[in-house]
Amino acid sequence: MKLIDLRSDTVTQPSTKMRKVMAEAEVGDDVYREDPTVNRLEKIAAEKLNKESAIFVSSGTQSNLLALLSHCQRGDEYIVGQQAHTYKYECGGAAVFGSIQPQPLPLNSDGSLDLDMAAAYVKPNDIHFANTKLLCLENTYWGNAIPMDYLPKAKRFTDVHHLAFHLDGARVFNAAVKYKVPVTDITNYFDTVSICLSKNLGAPVGSILLGSKSFIEQARKWRKMLGGGMRQAGVLAAAGIIALEENVSHLAEDHEKAIQLANGLKTIDEIEVDDMTRQTNMCFIRIAKEDAETLPAFMKENNILSYSGTHIRLALHLDVDPEDIGYVVKVIKQYYQEKK
Ligand SMILES: *Cc1c(COP(=O)(O)O)cnc(C)c1O
Repeated sequence: MKLIDLRSDTVTQPSTKMRKVMAEAEVGDDVYREDPTVNRLEKIAAEKLNKESAIFVSSGTQSNLLALLSHCQRGDEYIVGQQAHTYKYECGGAAVFGSIQPQPLPLNSDGSLDLDMAAAYVKPNDIHFANTKLLCLENTYWGNAIPMDYLPKAKRFTDVHHLAFHLDGARVFNAAVKYKVPVTDITNYFDTVSICLSKNLGAPVGSILLGSKSFIEQARKWRKMLGGGMRQAGVLAAAGIIALEENVSHLAEDHEKAIQLANGLKTIDEIEVDDMTRQTNMCFIRIAKEDAETLPAFMKENNILSYSGTHIRLALHLDVDPEDIGYVVKVIKQYYQEKK
């Protein structure tokens, strides 16, 4: 029986077409900038996101780290969300490799940061303080698309305080699809953007960092230093091209599946479903502590994978079919019925 994996959208398998273009990709040595497929992917990404230059990297973590290392010097500081990937989920890389100090601040559930509060944390030019250099946002944030009208305000904030502005846009295409805007309506506000190809866009490996030409040249050197200089990487980039050119159009289906799942789960008394207003391809549920381990275990017995806990993320993606949603709801209902 089919396994329905709702733990993350990173679990997507490369499609038959992706595997075919990977097998046939024209390749060269990318450290010499001679891989035509990597070069093509970087060009396509730069055009789609309206940035001067782009670099193909191994992961979102590497991409964000290159951005932090390129924006900030030793002793500089970046303002970032307390629950943001670039602070909490990247092993403290900026501190380890760059001696860069994070200034984490609580974010609102829609991914926005209170700018008056942030202003109080921008450090004045004083011999005692680190230099505040950068603001990082994440869009989508836990699946929530940041409200569009927040972006110009945040951009103005960075201008007033002379900060660079980086977007961890691992899932930024989801935000654009949610608000039915071109992705550039979001990315134009930022100096640099990181996108993931390996999540809901379905590529097996890879992320892209985008920014000005000189910024990306710097990032390219950091990537080499971190051991990320890849050779015939075109076999990976070929899948990335399919991800960017063909799979963005499927994201709306993931959002639809998330809404369907949310609506199904709302009919179960024991489950509280988080607000879906700004949500894209995820559905977050809250369950009682006594079910935190046993519900996911029951789901697993029925070929559905999810994390355990009292606040569970269910991620929708290319490899979950619309027909699977009804089955997931049925299994969860059955768990509560059998408990009674
Ligand atoms: C997944 C993710 C990353 C990191 O990507 P990896 O390829 O897993 O290293 C960064 N930021 C956000 C918001 C993510 O969801």
